[in-house]
Amino acid sequence: MPRFVFITGGVVSSLGKGLASAALGALLQARGYKVRLRKLDPYLNVDPGTMSPTQHGEVFVTDDGAETDLDLGHYERFTGVDAKQSDNVTTGRIYSDVLARERRGDYLGATIQVIPHVTDAIKTFVTSNLDDEDFVLVEIGGTVGDIESLPFLETIRQLGYELGPRKTCFLHVTLLPYIHVAGELKTKPTQHSVKELQSVGIQPDILLCRSSEDIPNDLKRKISRFCNVREEAVISALDAKSIYDVPLVYHREGLDMEICRHFDLPLNEPDLSVWQDIVHRMGNPEGEVNIAVVGKYTSLLDSYKSLAEALIHGGLDNNVTVRLNWVDSEIFEGDNADMSALKQADGIMVPGGFGQRGSEGKIKAIQFARENQLPFFGICFGMQMAVIEAARNLADQSEASSSEFGQIDNPVVGLMTEWTSGNAQVTRDAESDLGGTMRLGAYDCVLGEGTRVRDLYGVKNISERHRHRYEVNVSWRDMLEEKGLIFSGLSPDGALPEIVERPDHPFFIGVQFHPELKSRPFQPHPLFSGFIKAARDRSRLV
Ligand code: GLN
Repeated sequence: MPRFVFITGGVVSSLGKGLASAALGALLQARGYKVRLRKLDPYLNVDPGTMSPTQHGEVFVTDDGAETDLDLGHYERFTGVDAKQSDNVTTGRIYSDVLARERRGDYLGATIQVIPHVTDAIKTFVTSNLDDEDFVLVEIGGTVGDIESLPFLETIRQLGYELGPRKTCFLHVTLLPYIHVAGELKTKPTQHSVKELQSVGIQPDILLCRSSEDIPNDLKRKISRFCNVREEAVISALDAKSIYDVPLVYHREGLDMEICRHFDLPLNEPDLSVWQDIVHRMGNPEGEVNIAVVGKYTSLLDSYKSLAEALIHGGLDNNVTVRLNWVDSEIFEGDNADMSALKQADGIMVPGGFGQRGSEGKIKAIQFARENQLPFFGICFGMQMAVIEAARNLADQSEASSSEFGQIDNPVVGLMTEWTSGNAQVTRDAESDLGGTMRLGAYDCVLGEGTRVRDLYGVKNISERHRHRYEVNVSWRDMLEEKGLIFSGLSPDGALPEIVERPDHPFFIGVQFHPELKSRPFQPHPLFSGFIKAARDRSRLV
């Protein structure tokens, strides 16, 4: 049985619990331990797949096709461990599984109750599908005191009792607000949130206290007394310059040391050279590039979390700071639209998206990039719009469109009704449920000889993560290739276009998959590195 660290949050949401968990994962890895990170989400949706990106943020897709919480993206970016379906669960999924078993008669006539049936289902989830890990870090979504989190807290309390303190540790992330007029950090909200935890039977072992100011020792002592936590285990978590500073900052404050002390493990210094190198490179760039991200979920930047990080990784690989300018594509719509927001850009990114609103503006931005030799990178919806742009403006097909926007004859982007997944044939139609029915997860793609993507990846066969319901219709290939838009990546059976590119342009690539999900700061994705390199070259030219 591995050691479990349960991570809860108190006082307010958005304390960066996900990042703290990810950073702790990286620190334990740096001490030579094998880690896995999991997230328990208290909301009732079965998964975040049907939630609006502007409410919930990005949906992070795993290789095995799960639509998960964006915190799993942080986990992967910090630890390099590929997340799985078995690493994220919601109350909705737990209940739907329990109810399905009840209907099958699996409970043999018992009355189904939160304790033990729901808590047992959560326990099974937390402790199953493991692979000899030394540590499993389990983050509980939401804030202690929420009605929805109670079954999860009850489950981890039981696990703490059953497995004992040698195998479990409770880490609580809280906030010390700074009151400007008094010039003081306040501990009362932390005291209350620990009391709330204690009222459900959980005594935290470590407190990670987020604050904007240094926490003086006397305040740590006070928190220690009131909350029943050793003084050294009251850890200060100051706001960091960049998220990639967080492992080093938390290490300096002793977080990983306290975990080791709790489990009676050696206290030697971890090897943090990877993080030191990343932070050094981030702090010493040779220049900067401006990337315009033309999308429609720009009101909540978490909607594009992995994308923003992957662009930063591309910058790391090219020694430049990447400045992101989030542009709502609707400003480019209409006859005399002002395109000036794109004039300062060294590159244009059109990310994934859903629905017709804003699509005409994206097509205009792509046309601008193509005509002005401005590096362009389109992802998923961005690739589909690039194909429509070429069909309309270069191949004279003024009606070219996607059936996502309404029923049309011969759509250049159409609903996928069947495809192969492993050895199985998947079929869908317009009436299928929306939840969990897209082409999801890792699929192979074959790169064409002599293409730019082949050069960037350096291999012929790749695997990337997908999340889409529509596809570019391969029957348009000849017409579009004649106009210079080359289909440079295809599914192994040749049926599904995966990548398009223009050889007559400094960098014009559209991909049907989501490469941003696999980029890591210590292993930037080749397409993002290539895109930022092209933007850097452009910024030196102009
Ligand atoms: N809406 C498009 C589709 O479903 C693109 C999806 C995306 O960008 N993730 O195919």
